[in-house]
Amino acid sequence: SPPQDPGFDFFYLTLQWPGAYCDTKRSCCYPTTGKPTADFGIHGLWPNYNNGSYPSNCDPNNEFDPSEISDLVSTLQKKWPTLSCPSNEGYKFWEHEWEKHGTCSESVMDQHGYFEKTLALRDRINLLQILTDAGIEPNDEFYELKDIKNAIEEGFGFTPVIHCNRDPEKNRQLHEIFFCVDTSATEFINCPRPRDGCPSHIQFAKF
Ligand code: 5GP
Ligand code: 5GP
Repeated sequence: SPPQDPGFDFFYLTLQWPGAYCDTKRSCCYPTTGKPTADFGIHGLWPNYNNGSYPSNCDPNNEFDPSEISDLVSTLQKKWPTLSCPSNEGYKFWEHEWEKHGTCSESVMDQHGYFEKTLALRDRINLLQILTDAGIEPNDEFYELKDIKNAIEEGFGFTPVIHCNRDPEKNRQLHEIFFCVDTSATEFINCPRPRDGCPSHIQFAKF
C-alpha cells in the first residue's frame, strides 16, 4: 500500500546559537547541569508546508511523557539545552516542542522517535566547526550573511535559512539556523522558499 500522507511537506531542523538567545534584554537561565557548551543547540524539528505556513499543536491527547525519553535525557541536556527562565531542567522546552511541533508529525514517528531522530540529524552537521574553519567565529565580530551561507553550503552541502535577533544595543545577530529535512526525518533537502530573516551584515555573539 502507498505510504500514508504525513500531513505536511518537510521539516525544519532549527538550531539556536546560545550566545544570541542570552544576549538580549530578556537574558537567559542555565539548568543545574551548568552553562551549556558554546555550540549550536537544537531548538526543534518543525513540520512545515511548502507555502510557508505550518501546522501546530496537532494532538492534545498526545501529551509529552518524560518516561518515554528517559534514555535520551543526558544527550538532550547536551544537544538540546534550554536557555529560557525558569529552566525547568529542559523538560518545559522539550514538552513545548513535542506538543507544538512533534504532535504534527505523529504519523511519522512517536515521541521517542521524534527526539531520537532530531538528535541524529543534529549530529550530522558539524556547524560550528564549519564556520570556524571559514574564519567565522563567535567573537562579537560582524560577518557577511552571504559568507556564512556559502561556508555552510560548501561545508555541509545544503544552504540553510538564517534568522537573526537583536542584542541590547539593537545590533542584528546570528540567532537561529534552519535546515530542511524530508518528511521521514532522515534526509536533508534543499529548502523550499528559503527566506532569511537577517540583514546582509550580522554579528556572531560570544557565549
Ligand atoms: P519567531 O516568531 O520567534 O520566529 O517564532 C516563534 C515560534 O513560532 C517558533 O519557536 C516556532 O515554534 C514557530 N515558528 C516560527 N517560524 C516557523 C516556521 O517557519 N515553521 C514552523 N513550523 N514553526 C515556526
Ligand atoms: P517556540 O518559540 O518554539 O514556539 O517556543 C519556545 C518555547 O520554549 C517558549 O515558550 C520558550 O520560553 C521555551 N524555551 C525554553 N527554553 C528555550 C530555549 O532555549 N530556546 C527557545 N527558543 N525557547 C525556549
